[in-house]
Amino acid sequence: MIPAAFDYLAPATLEEAIRALGTHGEEVKLLAGGHSLLPLMKLRLASPTLLVDLGRIPSLGLISQEGDKILIGALSTHYQIESSKLLKEKCPLLPQTARVIGDVQVRNRGTIGGSLAHADPAADMPAPILALAGELRATGPQGERRLKAEDFFLGLMATALSPTEILTEIRVPLLSGRCGTAYLKAPQKASGFALVGVAVWLKLSASGICEDIGIGVAGLAAKPFRAKGVERRLRGKNLNPSLIEEAASHTAQGVDPMEDIHASGEFRADLARLYAARAIQEAAKRAGV
Ligand SMILES: Cc1cc2nc3c(=O)[nH]c(=O)nc-3n(C[C@H](O)[C@H](O)[C@H](O)COP(=O)(O)OP(=O)(O)OC[C@H]3O[C@@H](n4cnc5c(N)ncnc54)[C@H](O)[C@@H]3O)c2cc1C
Repeated sequence: MIPAAFDYLAPATLEEAIRALGTHGEEVKLLAGGHSLLPLMKLRLASPTLLVDLGRIPSLGLISQEGDKILIGALSTHYQIESSKLLKEKCPLLPQTARVIGDVQVRNRGTIGGSLAHADPAADMPAPILALAGELRATGPQGERRLKAEDFFLGLMATALSPTEILTEIRVPLLSGRCGTAYLKAPQKASGFALVGVAVWLKLSASGICEDIGIGVAGLAAKPFRAKGVERRLRGKNLNPSLIEEAASHTAQGVDPMEDIHASGEFRADLARLYAARAIQEAAKRAGV
């Protein structure tokens, strides 16, 4: 299928990209990896009159450390995240998630910023960013805004970004001490997208008590979310299999599970319980429980 005609701009700076967004209004779309946007355009579900390609703005594709945070440029590909030495050593939850996204071609083109901004409920990346309580930075004509991951996802393919803002950076904490992380998903067989995906980060005290924990869930509901009820049941406790299983049984509590041709709501809720238990168990094992 062929998309409707559009103009194309490849700015070399963020300022130029923001100006283009400001002057063309809702008819303009940002292009990152194009793995979600181009199929929509081919199906004529999106018909922007101008595409602003972010691919020539080098600063958007960097991964670096600043103090106790890791800064990930929005244009970083899933492959860059999967293979980043810094992330593997200091925040392995992101590489663990990136390596189960799609296939090699998808990971080579798809970007973390595109994935978060698109807010597909079945996308993997929102789950670890929520679990890690990441911070997102967006720049528009009014300057830069900082958004908590929890406030970023508003609903089915809806985020707190305004049409004139560009997501520029994602900040996650450096993990230190006795930490363990895991991302596990039940993939939809044809695409690899998550029927349910659960990301877990936890930190143990020297005596093995769960000092802190973050759990992000993708695929279950119209928007990804943090399983705070499960976290609450585990914080301050000695983790053991029966406690983990009991806590994980609350993953879908208060959530309206999605129903589609791939899975019923009941099945998704059951998968969420199962994958939450497994992911917590795996993270605990990696932390040395
Ligand atoms: C065959 C296939 C299999 C896939 N499997 C998986 C999977 O298993 N798991 C998974 O999570 N994902 C999967 N994906 C999605 C893919 O990994 C990308 O994450 C996704 O396509 C979005 O990233 P992108 O860079 O391609 O964004 P684009 O398609 O370029 O953009 C998507 C949307 O985000 C907007 N946007 C992009 N960047 C920014 C920005 N910096 N600021 C503001 N708005 C922005 C665009 O305007 C557009 O509306 C798959 C895709 C394909 C084609």
